Amino acid sequence: MKTVSGPAGVTKTTCPYCGVGCGLLAKADHAGNVTIEGDPDHPANHGRLCSKGLALAETIGLEDRLLHPIVHGRRADWDAALDLVADTFKATIARHGPEAVAFYVSGQFLTEDYYVANKLMKGFIGAANIDTNSRLCMASSVAGHKRAFGSDTVPGCYRDLELADLVVLVGSNLAWCHPVLFQRLSAAKALRPDMRIVVIDPRRTMTAQFADLHLPLKPGSDVALFNGLLAHLDTAGAKNAAFVGSHTRGLAEALQAAGQSLETVADATGLPEAQLRAFYQLFAGTERVVTAYSQGVNQSSCGTDKVNSIINCHLVTGRIGRPGMGPFSLTGQPNAMGGREVGGLANQLACHMELDDPEHRRIVRSFWRAPSMADRSGLKAVDLFKAVHDGRVKAIWIAGTNPADSMPDADLVKAALAACPFVVVSEVARQTDTAMHAHVLLPAAAWGEKDGTATNSERRISRQRPFLPLPGEARPDWWIFAQIGRRMGWPSAFAYETAADIFAEYAALSGVENAGRRDFDIAALEGLARGDYDALQPFQWPLRSGEAEASGDNRLFADGRFFTPDRRAAFVPTPFRQPASSVDEAFPLVLNTGRIRDQWHTMTRTAKSPRLMGHIAEPFAAIHPDDAAAHGIAAAALVEVSSARGHVIVRASLTDDQQKGTVFVPLHWTDQFAAQGRVDTLVAPHADPASGQPELKFTPVKIRPYAASWYGFAALLNRPERIDAGYWALARARGGWRIELAGTEAPSGWSDWARRLFGTDVGLLAYHDTAAGSRRFAAFAGRRLIGALFVAPDPVAVSRPWLAEQLEADFSAPADRLRLLAGRAGAGKAERGAIVCACFDVGVNQIVQAASAGGCRTVEAIGAATQAGTNCGSCRGEIQRLIDATGIQKAG
Ligand code: SF4
Repeated sequence: MKTVSGPAGVTKTTCPYCGVGCGLLAKADHAGNVTIEGDPDHPANHGRLCSKGLALAETIGLEDRLLHPIVHGRRADWDAALDLVADTFKATIARHGPEAVAFYVSGQFLTEDYYVANKLMKGFIGAANIDTNSRLCMASSVAGHKRAFGSDTVPGCYRDLELADLVVLVGSNLAWCHPVLFQRLSAAKALRPDMRIVVIDPRRTMTAQFADLHLPLKPGSDVALFNGLLAHLDTAGAKNAAFVGSHTRGLAEALQAAGQSLETVADATGLPEAQLRAFYQLFAGTERVVTAYSQGVNQSSCGTDKVNSIINCHLVTGRIGRPGMGPFSLTGQPNAMGGREVGGLANQLACHMELDDPEHRRIVRSFWRAPSMADRSGLKAVDLFKAVHDGRVKAIWIAGTNPADSMPDADLVKAALAACPFVVVSEVARQTDTAMHAHVLLPAAAWGEKDGTATNSERRISRQRPFLPLPGEARPDWWIFAQIGRRMGWPSAFAYETAADIFAEYAALSGVENAGRRDFDIAALEGLARGDYDALQPFQWPLRSGEAEASGDNRLFADGRFFTPDRRAAFVPTPFRQPASSVDEAFPLVLNTGRIRDQWHTMTRTAKSPRLMGHIAEPFAAIHPDDAAAHGIAAAALVEVSSARGHVIVRASLTDDQQKGTVFVPLHWTDQFAAQGRVDTLVAPHADPASGQPELKFTPVKIRPYAASWYGFAALLNRPERIDAGYWALARARGGWRIELAGTEAPSGWSDWARRLFGTDVGLLAYHDTAAGSRRFAAFAGRRLIGALFVAPDPVAVSRPWLAEQLEADFSAPADRLRLLAGRAGAGKAERGAIVCACFDVGVNQIVQAASAGGCRTVEAIGAATQAGTNCGSCRGEIQRLIDATGIQKAG
């Protein structure tokens, strides 16, 4: 293998967020200052980063970190905590059997962490009750790949998106969720303007704005759309008969199941026939097509069928395994793909071997010398937490994830954890909605401290290298699981000393009795020495024994041979069926949940960055203006979104990007950052029967105004201990915190309430406008602002970013203190406004100024004037809208 060495003092590592898997250069100086840059040599990003990657240095502080073990709420030493976990698991297994215990792990795990946890559960405890939060992310892709290819194989590579003449993005807001891949795609289109991009998504996302064609189909109707495409490809002369005849089976059955007229497809999808025809003709007439898809496809009660309906269209045209073509599953998490390879799901074994295959069980049992091999699949995530709830699982270990917020039916999960006799949580953060239920809390190493490997969406394995010391008593996840394995009675099987030892074993297992029979094979790295592991360069698998690393792009299926018993790919019949739930009079709207640009999962890391919180600082519901009007909801008011299971209170964001009859709420907010923002409390636990992936994109809901009698906004030096308000949403700001507030009943004494919020009993500067019903308070300590609170009967009109910035201002002049109560900078003073470009901290006011007074009429011109949009490009859609809006205002 080639070796990697960065500039002196620089560590080459990998981003811990999304499945693009960007390479980073990290540098920590003696004073603890960290800088992060994109690695120009990494093949995934070639030096690019998005706003989240760029802000990583702001997220590694030790505040909020769990730094030592805690047992029953008290600090404990590692030996006591580990003995308690091992003894309790052993006792539970002895009394109730191995299926009474479970692990729930994470796509944040590195492959080495996954390997050890899986080995312990599936080979030594003897059950397979280990599942991962990747079940919520891409299990439908795994199941779809296996049905079509006989293996969970992503055939292509990122380069294919650049080489394609047509890129179809299905259920993927690439601009926000895989921003660097979006940058690569945008750059390719800029070089080849004839390249076409089609976005298939019920929402007009930022990605859809860049599309040549946006198909805003009805939620859940993707299978009907692709079945129609399959029928069209068959009849329009686009079938690759030679490929279909030599390398596939089952086309007739798939066509029979698909057989839909254009009229039927139009009815099912809600799309005009002319638009469908245009898309079908474009697809049929373009040889180099990549269809990339993400959570909008996977998170569905028919997600596996959606995947296969897409793959069917590539098989019938033979567009797979060749440059610039193929179906492409984009993974959400940094190591979701690694988790698939290493057997992180309850129905898998390591190295893409299957639990229900006796030969695979024999290979793994013998390699591990496993005393008690699981012989059937374990409980998938939704069923696992049901089993905790009904008492079948009596001891659970949750590692690196936050199911009390992220699982569907999240309140049931919370109740299950509260009632479970023994809950272990290994975590980076001291306080999460899941950690509060732990009997034992174990401090895990975080990104920057961890050592191991992760695999990105294009099968590229990269090293995550530590550049920070382990803080306090934190330990790597693999170490914690290995310690439990040793203490449960298997010291030699878990005698790993380093992550390199684990990787070497894993690589060796991948080659056992393989000889090309299984896709995943990295046996060329069997027994890799620790020094070579340290120097390991990013590579795409497979890397079979004796093979050198491919010099260019590494594609699979170029020879038309798949991993099914007859080496043919299977067309899978995918008759269209509706989502598991349907809207009715009581719940007339469809809720879709998803990510926003600058947040990641349940915000345990991204919420530490003021820059990332500056883009969208509170939970919201995107609602079509007609739906809002029909339900009496005003712009920027608060809205209660309810399903049959629960409700959230969030800010109303009215936009015709949202299809009528639908609502979008981001998945990120938890009880740590908002009063009632846990959107997964609304979602029913309906799962795809083939993949077990829950339907997070289709929940019938209703909306109504939150009957606030007052609204407030505050900037605070310290995080308040308690917030007495029906609605609040807290976000970090430079120098402190900012908080949105509202309530149905006003406090009896506002001054006392303000002091409690500020955490001080000093005198307050106050201004009341009795006629308008508004109140303003501020408190100072020396020259610093401790808190400023603005209250009004309607959503308060103050400059939030400017107020938050005042937490770092010098208030020695009394006049400045008085001016603060105006709530904005005042005439002639610059205010950035809400952050649009998080990479360069450029606010909405600066962009509007450049567009209007500065005369910048293109995104590029705005970039030249302000830098906005010149790095990751995820904000370019918002910039274009601001330009358009200033143009309209001028014209008017
Ligand atoms: Fe990290 Fe952004 Fe790259 Fe994803 S696109 S890996 S979040 S830098």
